Amino acid sequence: MKYKLSKYAKFHNVHDVIVLYNSYLARAFQVNECVYQDLNEANKRGYIYIDENNRISGVDELIESEILVPFDHDDEQVDRLAMNKFISEHRTTHDKIGLIRELQIVLTDRCNLNCVYCSAGSNDSCRSSTLKYARIIEFMLEHLQLLENSRDADRRIVIRYFGGEPLLCKEALLDSIEYIDAQYQKKHIKRKYIINTNGVLLDRRLIENLGKYNVQVNVSMDGMDDYTNSLRLSKEGRTVFKEVENTINLLAESGIDYGVICVLNKINMEYSRELVDYWVSTLQLKQVFVERMVFSSEKDIENIHDYVESLLDIYYYGNSVGLTVLGQWAKMFRLFNGKNMKLLTCGAYGKIASLRPDGFITSCQIISQPKFATIIDYINSSYYHDSIKSQYRLEYCENCHIEGICAGSCRAEFESTYRNRLCMFNNELFRQILMHKCEPVLS
Ligand code: SF4
Ligand code: SF4
Repeated sequence: MKYKLSKYAKFHNVHDVIVLYNSYLARAFQVNECVYQDLNEANKRGYIYIDENNRISGVDELIESEILVPFDHDDEQVDRLAMNKFISEHRTTHDKIGLIRELQIVLTDRCNLNCVYCSAGSNDSCRSSTLKYARIIEFMLEHLQLLENSRDADRRIVIRYFGGEPLLCKEALLDSIEYIDAQYQKKHIKRKYIINTNGVLLDRRLIENLGKYNVQVNVSMDGMDDYTNSLRLSKEGRTVFKEVENTINLLAESGIDYGVICVLNKINMEYSRELVDYWVSTLQLKQVFVERMVFSSEKDIENIHDYVESLLDIYYYGNSVGLTVLGQWAKMFRLFNGKNMKLLTCGAYGKIASLRPDGFITSCQIISQPKFATIIDYINSSYYHDSIKSQYRLEYCENCHIEGICAGSCRAEFESTYRNRLCMFNNELFRQILMHKCEPVLS
């Protein structure tokens, strides 16, 4: 049968290892020189015959991953049809409310700390920036009712509490969990509650109360001492490292599900191995969330090679000592390790409904526009429709050589003026993953 290379097939040569991948479906293979020559010639000629007499090594996988496609395959038409199918399957009717897998509740935009890289700490206007309990319940119940009326919705939900600092609103937090949990239980809806906190206001009693509802508590901590944690400061300008460390020890003793979130920044990136050792030996963590910094200035991207190297060092070294390193950026590894995986865009493209401190709904806690009064307004809007369409394909990324492997990562940054810097990071990450991990990840 006559085949050709898909327009998404790309070669990447890394230290004499040739990697062939489908940039759209995020499937990658290491190929030998012979296969490379065969495919290169096929590319120049425009076709290759594959039959019993002419089989190249790994051809089944290349066909299955659509690196090789039938000669009459019309990329444009196939794309169009697939996108129309995707959109019609995800049409935003009430029946599709199950597409929203996560409710975010941003209890307040106030914070008790004043971290250098965050704007929340400077916001002290409590009247306009703290959610009312009644609004939280209204939001949760609206979603629950839509879910109930839905015929085919997946009956599970993640509820994530954010701030500012969500524990400044302990009562609203605990009362809303208590209230909604009883409702979910009656309706047999599986749920997971997650809180992201700076950890300063947590005490034994609160941990006990959260434990009753299996709440996962994620605590932000960027270092292993005052210096490496020096961007996280109290209002008075002192670091809160010891207080947060004590909280993490309390969480460990309590048996509650908890995690540590570390933003890799210009200070702590120099200490990647020490950080891992601290997490494993002192805090006895099994997993950690490492988030990358936001590249908001040109300077942030200047040493992007070193930055990515530190990130990967944490990943690989962590793995070697039994630490699982999670983070939005780490999805690229999963794509290379998994079979038949395609990375869809981040949750803000239609999978999240986020309730803001002013009572309005947005697509993610850090995306402030457009705002909607109700969930139904949100999912019936053209904005939501376009978000769903983007889950299939981000127009801007079309024909990028890592489209499908990267998929824009964070929507907020992708739509900001920082996009080029984000793309530089994504490209460097991709390049270094290939360089580091050619043998085991690519087969
Ligand atoms: S976000 Fe940037 S790097 Fe990533 S696929 Fe899109 S264009 Fe490429
Ligand atoms: S926009 Fe960024 S912060 Fe929001 S859900 Fe997407 S990745 Fe997360």
